[in-house]
Amino acid sequence: MKNPYKTRAGGATVTVFVPYDCGNHCPFCINKGEYADTSWFNMDEILRSIKVMDALTPKCDFVFTGGEPFANRHALQELLDAVPSTHRVFINTTLPVFEGQTEQDIIDFAEKNKDKITCINISRHLVKYVEESPDELLAALPVRRRVNCVLYKEYPAEKLPQYLERWIPYNIPVQFRFDYTATTPENLYDQENDKILHDLHKIAEYRGLDGCRMRCGFHFDYNGLELTYHKTLPYSTIVETDENGVTYDILYDIIIKQNGEIRSDWDDTVLDLTGYKNVVFEPYDLRVIEGHLDEMAY
Ligand code: SF4
Repeated sequence: MKNPYKTRAGGATVTVFVPYDCGNHCPFCINKGEYADTSWFNMDEILRSIKVMDALTPKCDFVFTGGEPFANRHALQELLDAVPSTHRVFINTTLPVFEGQTEQDIIDFAEKNKDKITCINISRHLVKYVEESPDELLAALPVRRRVNCVLYKEYPAEKLPQYLERWIPYNIPVQFRFDYTATTPENLYDQENDKILHDLHKIAEYRGLDGCRMRCGFHFDYNGLELTYHKTLPYSTIVETDENGVTYDILYDIIIKQNGEIRSDWDDTVLDLTGYKNVVFEPYDLRVIEGHLDEMAY
């Protein structure tokens, strides 16, 4: 550890990479390579690391991602059971249906865990990269849900209205996402040269902007549908010197890898657990920058 750690009140978000692959090949996916060889995966170590992080920050957010959390819902149940109810829990998924997992199985799972799950974020892209289960399944989920859609490279902007109309009957909020591998500190808040933002201004009503050092969300209303455009930096540590001349590694996301290793960034930087025990907390810097927003983007 180079510098002492700082993070927001409650602790950095803990993102857990489940030890199960998805059946897709999205062009922007940087995780796929790690799922090609599963021999180093270790469920017990993941469960142990969840306990470690819960003990250090009993109120942090947990995110389960992959791979595909719903590729093995029995394992997902074990993971959810390991997270005490003091935490908010988000699941990033494509909501896959396959032999051995029906739509009703997923609905039953969500019903059983509705007190544990804060929100299920389902990937549905403008260009169809993932195997999609029916929209009616998303609508029937008995928990909060949101659709995530990466607008990748030369996306077909003319399809945006049609895509948004698709979610209006179910009133499922949509989050468009900029390709995070292309996000930099310079373009994070740049509005002038942001093509996606220009495209959204043409079709939806702008409501405001929130953000922090690491990420931001432009909020829109599309015929009553809640719409966010989200940008985030491709790393999760910001190095900053405070007014007393002390330089901190400010952590936004902590990652539990498929073998249970705990890292302080998306690369291979291992979290210094002793250092994190002594982390300095600061108020969360996510704030409303423009407009009047009821709820800020996750
Ligand atoms: S569904 Fe997710 S994990 Fe699978 S290829 Fe696409 S982005 Fe990667």
